[in-house]
Amino acid sequence: MVFLNRKRLALISVHGDPAIEVGKEEAGGQNVYVRNVGEALSHQGWHVDMFTRRVSADQAAIVEHNAHCRTIRLTAGPQEFIPRDEIFEFLPEFVQGFLDFQKQLDAPYRLIHSNYWLSSWVGMDLSKKLSIPQAHTYHSLGAVKYKSVSTIPLIAKTRLAVEKTCLETVNRVVATSPQERDHMRSLVSSRGSIDIIPCGTRIDHFGTVTQADARQALGIAPDEKVVLYVGRFDPRKGIETLLRAVDACQARKTENVRLIIGGGSRPGHSDGDERERIESIVSELGLEGVTQFAGRLSQDDLPSYYAAADVCVVPSHYEPFGLVTIEAMACGTPVVGSDVGGLQFTVVPERTGLLAPPKDVAAFAASIDRLLLNPTWRHTLGQAARKRVETTFSWDGVATQLGKLYEVLLEEASQEASQEQSSKKLAQASA
Ligand code: UDP
Repeated sequence: MVFLNRKRLALISVHGDPAIEVGKEEAGGQNVYVRNVGEALSHQGWHVDMFTRRVSADQAAIVEHNAHCRTIRLTAGPQEFIPRDEIFEFLPEFVQGFLDFQKQLDAPYRLIHSNYWLSSWVGMDLSKKLSIPQAHTYHSLGAVKYKSVSTIPLIAKTRLAVEKTCLETVNRVVATSPQERDHMRSLVSSRGSIDIIPCGTRIDHFGTVTQADARQALGIAPDEKVVLYVGRFDPRKGIETLLRAVDACQARKTENVRLIIGGGSRPGHSDGDERERIESIVSELGLEGVTQFAGRLSQDDLPSYYAAADVCVVPSHYEPFGLVTIEAMACGTPVVGSDVGGLQFTVVPERTGLLAPPKDVAAFAASIDRLLLNPTWRHTLGQAARKRVETTFSWDGVATQLGKLYEVLLEEASQEASQEQSSKKLAQASA
């Protein structure tokens, strides 16, 4: 389809570069979300530029994904990796970089959609300076996250304040699940406007391989019972709970169980430290013979891993949405997840998977057993999981809902502008 007069949309994702490899330190769901939303919206008639921070001089300043979707890397602070909790001070430079970039364009941006609290600050500043509307997706809420961690970072106070201002002032906040909206209302503010639009997944990419083919490709025997984890190495992800649950489950005694842990890490960085800790628990429990560390899995390899698994476990202490869950479900693999956040929305207990209280080793072990020891039921759950993803979580469906929201925001902005103009005229006439 040919779209004339494409409207320019700026997706802002300061720390989550949509053009890089995901699955290792600080690169996960947000990167995937921004990239897929951006591309899908460009196919639906928008011109989408995705702004992020340049973390190395070797990185291209502009990456073109298609004729109407680009990643633009702005310089803000040193061109090196900086943990997200230390980026705040460089945001004014990011705003300036954006404004300089816009000057070279023949048409300005009409709307901003920011991602994560750092970008919300950038978006609020730009929205004010340019008088354009802003939508925001949090991806993670400080108010919830800080309840589940033992050390609260120095930036916490600033983050909580920015998240509150954002909810109360931006044109629309996008919650990715009803649970996230409830958290915003109970823990952040009762003011502000929220729409619920979920995250999505590539339903034509995940779900195209059969379990038999996937197992043959990965060298996994038909009689093995495969438990899969996919995600970053981060204590919040609860991999320790999974290890202890696999150690405790009944199936370990009667079946040929294999635990695959997929995810990248870099020695000397925080994910490398967590991987070392996880490896030491594997040794402590004597699970070396059962556990396979698969390293970072590419998006091309992932469909086979999900399809080969009997169950995918998402044992997070806190999970705002959890893309891994819907990727596994799209591949027909039921999920055992923690009974928290977005997992309460994506997993329908007893229908597409099971939920267990976070950190509850016995409950995770029992749920894993129920699936491993009932192949027919497991299969039924897997089929229902695929259906749920097809109807609710495709990127095209998500982008359509976002596109409609953007149109509403543009309409509201133009009404506001014309009201302002008429009041000005009235004031001038009566002066
Ligand atoms: N991922 C990947 N390779 C890996 C591990 C993870 O591509 O080795 C991807 C995974 O497919 C998913 C994303 O990283 O799309 C993780 O998103 P999720 O929302 O589950 O967690 P987050 O990282 O945002 O906490």
